[in-house]
Amino acid sequence: MLKKYLLAPGPTPVPETVLLEMARPIIHHRTSEFSAIFDNVRRRLPEVFGTKEEVLMLAGSGTAAMEAAIINTVNIGEKVLIIDAGKFGQRWGDICRAFGMDVHKIELEWGSSVKPEAVEEFLRANPDTKGVFVQGSETSTTACHPIKELAEVIRKYDDTLFIVDGITSVGVYDTRMDEWGIDVLVTGSQKAFMLPPGLALIALSRKAWARTQKVKNPRYYLNLAKELKAHKDSTTAYTPAISLIIGLDKVLDMMFEEGLENVYARHEINGQATRAAVQALGFRLLAKDMPANSATGFYLPEGFEGGKFIKFMREKVGVTYAGGQDHLKGKIMRISTLGYHDAFDTIIGISALEMGLRKFGVEVELGSGVRAAETILEDYIGK
Ligand SMILES: *Cc1c(COP(=O)(O)O)cnc(C)c1O
Repeated sequence: MLKKYLLAPGPTPVPETVLLEMARPIIHHRTSEFSAIFDNVRRRLPEVFGTKEEVLMLAGSGTAAMEAAIINTVNIGEKVLIIDAGKFGQRWGDICRAFGMDVHKIELEWGSSVKPEAVEEFLRANPDTKGVFVQGSETSTTACHPIKELAEVIRKYDDTLFIVDGITSVGVYDTRMDEWGIDVLVTGSQKAFMLPPGLALIALSRKAWARTQKVKNPRYYLNLAKELKAHKDSTTAYTPAISLIIGLDKVLDMMFEEGLENVYARHEINGQATRAAVQALGFRLLAKDMPANSATGFYLPEGFEGGKFIKFMREKVGVTYAGGQDHLKGKIMRISTLGYHDAFDTIIGISALEMGLRKFGVEVELGSGVRAAETILEDYIGK
């Protein structure tokens, strides 16, 4: 037998109660039965985004919400600023470029977080910028960007929208879209929302909704105004991801039963414990100033075959971690603390890491990472 543990930052494990709910016979979506579930989700989802606006549910992965954010708020040819500090920042740029926007970038070394002053400087020189695009947590580097501070800068510019990929920060951090001044906030189902992939979530501020009316880009499937109208009628424009929305209803039961503040605190303590553990094992964190609580990335020893190690751990040990992307492939690895993850998931991840590394000739001391994690988690458990 090989028992499996999924510790990659998406897709993340799905709780058994949610799996069982989604395994029930499919229901039709143009029914009062589905609309009641849909409305139960609609009513509660905005609190996780920190907004009073509607959160739209699109059938698609997180990237669908990213594309929707762009094509509904910026005209082709208009100026945008991308914070590119990793794979997903790059994706904002790639999508904007694919549609022909005038793309400007602040490029940062992977692991770095953008300085709000750098954005301010750009906007002062370029007040015609229509959107600033960033990640709440850049999953490829496991570093956060200072969203609240960035919002403070950007909200002073009437023509500029602040567009945040919160795919690994919504549900991990207390995110206050309305209060801070985020204009578009997107996420997906398979990260902090503990669901299989296939549901994209997106909310727009008043300022962003006003902009959608001025945008002339061709749109069809990802026409958000049309979706908003449908949502207000307790349905979606096209066939929704029925099973995932039924699952989301259960997930929200779990999140609100735990209490959102406790959900965020759980991510914080498990993030801290994981960082402490890998540092106790002698590894250097990839994130410089703002390590994320969604996942922890760290450098593997020089010359170590990271790809081979991750494959071995997944196939022979049963533990799935994530490796590095692009130029960091093989050089780093990432351990998730996202979603349906608690103290002993952290312990399993660190314990397996210690034993696995030794098989690959890395002389870590057995128990030293686990001890560091336990030291942080011991007061937390049993509360
Ligand atoms: C996973 C992820 C995405 C991509 O989402 P898909 O669901 O794979 O389309 C985008 N941004 C961030 C920050 C992510 O973690």
